[in-house]
Amino acid sequence: MEQNNYRPIKAKIENVITETSNIKTFVIKPEEPISFLAGQFMQVTVPGMGESPFTPSSDPKHAESIEFTVMKAGSVTVKLHSMKPGEYVGLRGPFGKPYPISDFHGKDIYVVGGGVGLAPLRALLFALFHELDHLNKIEVRFGSRSPNDISYKDAIPEWAKRPKTNINITVDMGDPSWKGNVGLVTTILKDGDVNVKNAVAIVCGPPIMMKFVNKRLLDMSFEPKDIFLSMEKNMSCGIGKCFHCNLGHFLCCKDGPVFTWEQIKDIPEPW
Ligand SMILES: Cc1cc2nc3c(=O)[nH]c(=O)nc-3n(C[C@H](O)[C@H](O)[C@H](O)COP(=O)(O)OP(=O)(O)OC[C@H]3O[C@@H](n4cnc5c(N)ncnc54)[C@H](O)[C@@H]3O)c2cc1C
Repeated sequence: MEQNNYRPIKAKIENVITETSNIKTFVIKPEEPISFLAGQFMQVTVPGMGESPFTPSSDPKHAESIEFTVMKAGSVTVKLHSMKPGEYVGLRGPFGKPYPISDFHGKDIYVVGGGVGLAPLRALLFALFHELDHLNKIEVRFGSRSPNDISYKDAIPEWAKRPKTNINITVDMGDPSWKGNVGLVTTILKDGDVNVKNAVAIVCGPPIMMKFVNKRLLDMSFEPKDIFLSMEKNMSCGIGKCFHCNLGHFLCCKDGPVFTWEQIKDIPEPW
């Protein structure tokens, strides 16, 4: 059936997983099949409150249940956080362009995330794990405010055991139990982590983090065409009609939300 971009599909919340004090993962089963690719987003309708865009955080290959990892921000996300298994939301989409994963074959993949930015990157990682035979290696660098703010705590050690995969996490503020690096995510982006001449960097996180990570990647000699950034501008329609999410001459919902630095480098302060 052709996708009707205006009609939310009814979807049941099957499970709610508390990740941190302000982040929950919602396991949601749509009443009609929806398939998505890593990097695409959906509009989630919270009844009586409104709609917000979220990128699925689950494996795109298993779309019978779709997971969204959501940080509490304002009205829609506070209401969503109060919802329980058995209640219903609506889903529109998927919208936007996916990561061009087949173009990454034969390369080193540098995945850099911050905060709730790990949510879209989790869907990407699942998609990359399906393609491991075609990739050189995956290096994940992730920054979080504190050890208690890290989502997917049980899954991360399992991902790190995958072949060709290395994960390094840093926190802004440690605690007595934390044995890893303390400092911003840029402090764990080291020359030599990947072969920049044959690598892509995929970045998702708060705008200020993306700005400084992008600068560091350029200092490491990444080509602008090899840096992929998730630009999460405020969106409304999701389908390129309302122009809420314009980024220079682009619309984030239609042309993005993932852009290469090559595409947006001439836009003043794109963050
Ligand atoms: C393509 C896309 C994918 C996204 N994926 C995720 C995701 O996987 N998980 C997740 O937790 N969030 C994600 N977001 C952000 C999420 O859409 C917003 O946090 C949400 O819309 C806030 O709605 P609200 O009604 O709860 O808060 P509002 O009342 O709308 O806003 C509360 C505060 O959050 C700020 N805010 C609102 N929207 C954004 C935004 N897009 N970026 C930065 N600040 C914002 C507002 O300026 C305000 O300060 C995504 C956004 C986009 C555009």
